[in-house]
This record gives sequence, C-alpha cells and structure tokens, in this order.
Amino acid sequence: MNNGMLVVFSAPSGCGKDTVFKELCKRHNNIVESVSATTRKPRKGEVNGVDYFFVSEEDFRHMIDNDGLLEYAMYNGNYYGTPVKGVNESIRNGKICFLIIEVQGAQRVMKLFPDCVSIFLVPPSEEILAQRLYKRKTDNEQTIKSRLEIAKVEMTFKDNYTYTVVNDNLDVCVDTIDKILCDELKKRNA
Ligand code: 5GP
Repeated sequence: MNNGMLVVFSAPSGCGKDTVFKELCKRHNNIVESVSATTRKPRKGEVNGVDYFFVSEEDFRHMIDNDGLLEYAMYNGNYYGTPVKGVNESIRNGKICFLIIEVQGAQRVMKLFPDCVSIFLVPPSEEILAQRLYKRKTDNEQTIKSRLEIAKVEMTFKDNYTYTVVNDNLDVCVDTIDKILCDELKKRNA
C-alpha cells in the first residue's frame, strides 16, 4: 500500500477553506480531516465529534498535560488543538490527512513533520475577505473585526508554507490544490 501524507492547510477566517476542502474530498476518496478539539462554543449546526470536539478549558488543559495534542494554539480567545490520536494512523493507512489549522499550530506541525505538504489559502483581497465574513452571518460584528485583524497577521506567515493559492475562483483554486496533491503523492510514491 502507498504511504499517505500529511497536509497542513491554513487560511484566514472567511477565506473559504472549508468549501475548498469539501470539493477536494469529492475528488479524492482517501482524504481524511483530523477533528480538532476546541474550547470555542459550537456554532449553529456544528456537531460535536464531527466539526470539533467541543471541550471545556479544563478538559483542554488535561489534554495538553497528558501529551494528547500534537499542537495547539489560542485563537481569538479560544483554544484549538490537534489530537495526536489518529494522525499517525491515518498516514500509515495511506490516507491524505488534512490538518486545517491556524498559523501558529501550522508552524509547529511543519517542524514536527518536515516532509508535510503545507498550503496557505489567500483571499483575493482584504475587502473581499471582509465581505465574505459579513455575508456568512456566523459571527457577530466584534468577532468579525477581530478575525479580520488576525487575518492581517496570518497573511504575514504565508511565505512559510510550501504553496500559496489564491481563492478567487473556486474551481480554479480546487484544480490548483488538486494538482499539488497529485504531484506530491507521485513524488512520494515514485
Ligand atoms: P473557527 O473558529 O473558525 O472554526 O476556527 C478558527 C481558526 O482555528 C481557523 O483558522 C481554524 O483553521 C483554526 N483551527 C481549527 N482547529 C485547529 C487546531 O486543531 N489547531 C490550530 N492550531 N488551529 C485550529
């Protein structure tokens, strides 16, 4: 069986990474996403154990203390982290394991797994990012403003990633990432 690979996928909030990820899953049946733990409250429609493991701060600290997290970071007042369990196993089982995480955690994973593929998704412009965040109506005004401030900082990390892809046209963006995945898989399994 071929080996899998680890893909670190980051983007400012509202850049469309979940939509892009869903499209990629339609093209590759061996993509899996690591389900993160977070202390953020669930948004409408989010399901525990599917979108995230929604945990208390106490439980999150317990995971940190017990080496249960590969990486973790504080984002906009909440903790987010990747459970260790599952990631290594997915790669061993030949899966393309996606970590859809913010930039600080991504740096840590790149250090731990130097041969991972790292992709940073950028919005066409700051204005379009703001429009998308307001349009999706999942966060209040204050949260959107702080997410936009964080986005500015996150953009400064983009050169640390192997690939930077602009999400202007969804199809073009998905085609580009699809090609990256195919090329990387070919390289690894040559
Ligand atoms: P959201 O609250 O919009 O679901 O996620 C906020 C940010 O946290 C996003 O950039 C998302 O990719 C990131 N994130 C989600 N899970 C993790 C994780 O396990 N670790 C880190 N470092 N960031 C995460």
